[in-house]
Amino acid sequence: LAAGLKRADRLAAVGELSARMAHEIRNPLAAISGSVQLVALRPWADEKDKRLFSIILRETDRLDGLLRDFLFYAKPTQPTKIPLKLRRVIADLCSLLSTDPRLRGVTIENRVPEELVVVFDKDQCSQVFWNLVVNSAEAIAGEGTIVIDACAASNGEKEEARISVRDSGSGMKQADVKRVFEPFFTTKKGGTGLGLATVYRIVETHGGRMVVDSAEGAGTTVTLYLPT
Ligand code: ADP
Ligand code: MG
Repeated sequence: LAAGLKRADRLAAVGELSARMAHEIRNPLAAISGSVQLVALRPWADEKDKRLFSIILRETDRLDGLLRDFLFYAKPTQPTKIPLKLRRVIADLCSLLSTDPRLRGVTIENRVPEELVVVFDKDQCSQVFWNLVVNSAEAIAGEGTIVIDACAASNGEKEEARISVRDSGSGMKQADVKRVFEPFFTTKKGGTGLGLATVYRIVETHGGRMVVDSAEGAGTTVTLYLPT
């Protein structure tokens, strides 16, 4: 049956099927996690049991996060493109992340001009910058800064916004820079490698582009070109 389908249709069918699969796995996973939380409350659970239960919970959480990210990557929701004040989106994101332990010691400078507007899906815009900021914070791993800057630019035919996220983190090896958009490429213990692949996909469906500049020990700059 599949042999009769065109390649693009086949890929779409595989995306559909794996999204469905990811969705089906999340339900029993939620049941496992819920049951373990209840059993952990039983009076006869000793310290050793509780430690084991917390491992089960941590790992089910991790699996759930992986499936959620994969689900979005395999089958992104249709964007609702609206004019957004980017400065506002970043400011909201900063307050959302203010209690996140990964951001401890990290200063975020929001230099986006007040008047700058991008045409983007609101949730997906937050998702893009959430991924970039968290990656930067993880590369900083301690004290450092993330500078988010933006300006209007023109690519010859149309107006666009050039937005950069620059960090003082560890940077990347040149061989890794080439692979950052590959799904499942990660150098982190417990990383999913779906963050930048998803960001790339979102930016692309909005008619934008993005590039990564990085050198080991010199930090990283991610530049996005988005429609205004
Ligand atoms: P994950 O964060 O789960 O590893 P991502 O797709 O978000 O997946 O990132 C892929 C890889 O790209 C990371 O594992 C890391 O090696 C590299 N990377 C991404 N952003 C940065 C950054 N700001 N500084 C250094 N390395 C980065
Ligand atoms: Mg990431």
